[in-house]
Parts: sequence; C-alpha cells; structure tokens
Amino acid sequence: MTADPNSVAIVGAGIVGMSAALYLRRAGFPVALIDPLPPGGGASYGNAGLISIESCVPVALPGMLSEVPRWLTQPLAPLAVRPRYLLRALPWLLRWVAAGRMPRVEAAAAALRALHVNALDRYRELLGAEFDDVIRVAGQVHIRESAEPSASEAIYRRLWERHGVAAEWLSADELRQLVPQLTGGVTRAVFLPKNGHTLNPRRLVATLARLFTEAGGTVLAERVLKLVPEGSGWRVVTSSANHIVGKVVVSAGAWSMQLLRPLGVRLPLETERGYHMMLRDASVAPRLPILSRGRGFSITPMEQGLRLAGTVEIGGLDLPMNEERAYVLLRQARQVLPGLEASDFSIWMGFRPSFPDSLPVIDEVPGRRGLFLAFGHGHTGMTGGAPTGRLVKQLVAGEPADVRLAPYSARRFH
Ligand SMILES: Cc1cc2nc3c(=O)[nH]c(=O)nc-3n(C[C@H](O)[C@H](O)[C@H](O)COP(=O)(O)OP(=O)(O)OC[C@H]3O[C@@H](n4cnc5c(N)ncnc54)[C@H](O)[C@@H]3O)c2cc1C
Repeated sequence: MTADPNSVAIVGAGIVGMSAALYLRRAGFPVALIDPLPPGGGASYGNAGLISIESCVPVALPGMLSEVPRWLTQPLAPLAVRPRYLLRALPWLLRWVAAGRMPRVEAAAAALRALHVNALDRYRELLGAEFDDVIRVAGQVHIRESAEPSASEAIYRRLWERHGVAAEWLSADELRQLVPQLTGGVTRAVFLPKNGHTLNPRRLVATLARLFTEAGGTVLAERVLKLVPEGSGWRVVTSSANHIVGKVVVSAGAWSMQLLRPLGVRLPLETERGYHMMLRDASVAPRLPILSRGRGFSITPMEQGLRLAGTVEIGGLDLPMNEERAYVLLRQARQVLPGLEASDFSIWMGFRPSFPDSLPVIDEVPGRRGLFLAFGHGHTGMTGGAPTGRLVKQLVAGEPADVRLAPYSARRFH
C-alpha cells in the first residue's frame, strides 16, 4: 500500500500536537491525530495555565551546582531529585548544570524570546472568536521575597532589558492595589502586563480539538506502539490499527523518546515532574496570576477555582507520585495569601518534557525523511505550543519558518 505523501499522523494530543494538527489541517493536509487520552490529557491538562510571552530566561542558571545537596536531601523542596532515580538522571543533570553557563543562558534566552513573543497572536490565529472564552491577558505578578535582589534576579533583569520585556517594578502601594490579598511581608514584585493565562488548560486544548475536527481532521483514540519507515512514508503501528502515512510528527511530550529510541534517535529528554492542587472553594480570589520563583510555584485564577501549580521533581516516568508535594503547595500559598482556606480540592502530578537547555526540539530527523519532532517544551509548553504548531506546519509544508530554527534543532546535542 502506498501512502498519500501529504498525509500526516501526529502522535500526541497535548497542546503541541493539537496546535500542529490544526495548523496543518487548515493548510490542507489530511491529518490524523493519535492519542489514547482525550485531547489535553497529559502535561497540558494540569499546568499553571500561564501563557508567558515575556518568558525568556531558561531554568538552568549559573550557581546551580551549590544547590545539588539540597535537591537530594529535601524531598519537599521546590526542586528535588528522587534518590532512587539519581543514577539514571545524572547525565541529564550534568548537562543541565552545564547549560547554566552564562553564554549558553544568553543563547537560550534569545531562542526562547523568538519562540514565545508572538504566542498570544498565534492563539488568536488558532482560536479566532473563541480566544476570549479561554484566554485572559491580565498580566502576571512575580513576587520576590528576599530583602535584597539575588544573583539570579540580576540575570532576569539583564535578560529582560536586553529583549525588551515590558517589566514594571512595583512599589509596595502599587503591589497592594494589584493584589490586595497578598501578605504585607512581600514588598518587592514585578508586573508583566503583556503575559496572559488560560482559564482552563484542558478546555483550551479541547477547543483546538473541536476546531480541528470541524476543519475535517481525524482524532484516533489509539496508542502508537511503533513507527516503521515504509517506502517513502511511514507505517504507524497502534494499539488497534496500522496507518500508512507520508509524514509523522512526534509530539508525545515526555514519552516521545519511547517511540524514537528504536529508530536510533538519541536525545537527552528528561521529565521534570510538577504538581498541582486545584482549590474549588478558595476563600481568597486574586484576579491575576501570582508567581513566586523562590517557592517554585504559581497561583492562577481559573474557571474551576484557584490553581496552585509548579515545583520540579526529577523522578522519571515510572516512580509513583509523592502527594505530599501537592499538599506543600497549599502551605506555601498560605504564606503568600494569608487566610487562604479551602476544603474542596484535587491534586495532580504531570510530566514536563524537558531538555537541559530549556528549549524544545522542532526539527525533521536527519536521515529520516518525513519524521518530524516537536517536543521538549519543559516549563513553557502552554506558551510555546501554538507558535510551535505553526513552525511544524511550515517545516512539513517546506515553507520558510517564522524564526531561525537552528536553536531548536535535534543536532545541537551531538
Ligand atoms: C505543574 C506544571 C505547571 C506548568 N505550568 C505551565 C505554565 O504555566 N505555562 C506554560 O507555558 N507551561 C507550563 N507547564 C508546561 C506545559 O504543561 C508542558 O510543557 C506542555 O503541556 C507540554 O505539552 P505537550 O503537548 O508537549 O505534552 P503533553 O501535554 O504531555 O501531551 C503529550 C501527549 O502524548 C500522548 N502520548 C504519549 N505517548 C503516546 C503514544 N505512544 N501514542 C499516542 N500518544 C501518546 C500522551 O497521552 C499525551 O496526551 C507546566 C507543567 C507542569 C507539570
């Protein structure tokens, strides 16, 4: 059987796969989106929902090495490594620390800026009239709790300035006006007015899925087991069928390497597990998201209530969740929003797909024609999802790309 050279199978219906699917379908490609979960069931389900177009500072920064003992000995710290997983994670952790050298931080910042800066426009393009139904552009408040600026804060300031980020440092009075619920103990904060957030990450992805099927795309509830090159196309072997297609896009988030390793693709993808606690009856209701870098989490007002989400746990795809890490989020939030009470809540853990340099891979696999990669967005996949979708469409269609693709290439690790 020969494949229609234009037909595309997309593996993974998270924000990245779903955005790529909609862009490709609207460009006229026959597209099947394959995922055993309903759209938006992976990391794209439970994140903090921040669409941070101003986000351009990678996670790894200078000085990380001194933090390592804390990562290993404090399982509830904002960043923790599960001791049982340490050996497996070590090569990735070493690359992570190396990515924190300043020249590499600067290069990553430029590439993050290029990917994120138009993200809200890309969501407007995809969602059309439904944009306002799922996304708010109310800005974000980033609080700083140390009395004096830390070394990493100085790096943030420098990179924000270099990239023209609209960052307004607030006086204590201005801060109190924006977020009256905040503890008086926080006196330093910065307001990023151009950033947005979604009212419901799952509904955002589900809306894209509906627009995709309305445009004639197909969603298949199947697990992809293997990708096999066949003629000039690909055989996609799933839990219930074989699909013969011209092109495949792997956007399976943290699970992407399970399909790529058998094809000889080697990339340092790790998962940074994160947690959330969704408070449905929170007694305190800030009107815009609050982020605390020091505590490693954010507080986002959503349509279901207040979502506390974040932290990083290096523990792979198989170790069970440590639910205590979700409960810590509530204790942390009470330090910031005194009087915060809630009795109706749920907890969640999800898998950020992360490369050491905080950049995704958006590329065609060298030597494997028709096999495209779009994963590894780490902490900012809800932001980078829509712009990545458009870049994938441009790659697949052989069109010039919106941005220089070299920083997101798969070759950068070799
Ligand atoms: C706690 C937390 C907070 C976060 N907060 C933010 C935030 O505020 N802003 C932001 O921009 N980003 C945030 N992120 C990051 C963001 O959620 C992720 O980067 C993004 O969701 C990744 O999207 P994805 O489509 O690549 O992967 P996913 O959403 O994980 O989707 C991958 C999909 O692939 C499917 N799949 C896997 N294997 C197969 C297979 N073999 N066959 C078929 N399908 C398969 C899975 O079922 C899944 O549905 C946060 C993440 C976490 C964990």
